[in-house]
Amino acid sequence: MTLMITAECINCDVCEPACPNQAISIGPEYYVIDPNRCTECVGHFDEPQCKLVCPVDCIPKNPDYRESENELLAKYQRLMLQS
Ligand code: SF4
Ligand code: SF4
Repeated sequence: MTLMITAECINCDVCEPACPNQAISIGPEYYVIDPNRCTECVGHFDEPQCKLVCPVDCIPKNPDYRESENELLAKYQRLMLQS
């Protein structure tokens, strides 16, 4: 699963620089996570960095994107090849 940002986001911009995959950007109303780039931080860190830094705890798992650990790792490897 990737993560998602809910409407409780206060647009504080703390999570965007914390993401190792550049998956977070400002959306039309609040910050958003690109599911094609979020690996739940698999490959970089033991825990999702955005969740750690968010002051309002508004970054749950995205139920629309169910992925196994191996799929997240494959996404990480694909992103590394692109960079
Ligand atoms: S879980 Fe990690 S990869 Fe996904 S958006 Fe948050 S910081 Fe970025
Ligand atoms: S850290 Fe949380 S509140 Fe701040 S911009 Fe990111 S999702 Fe929104």
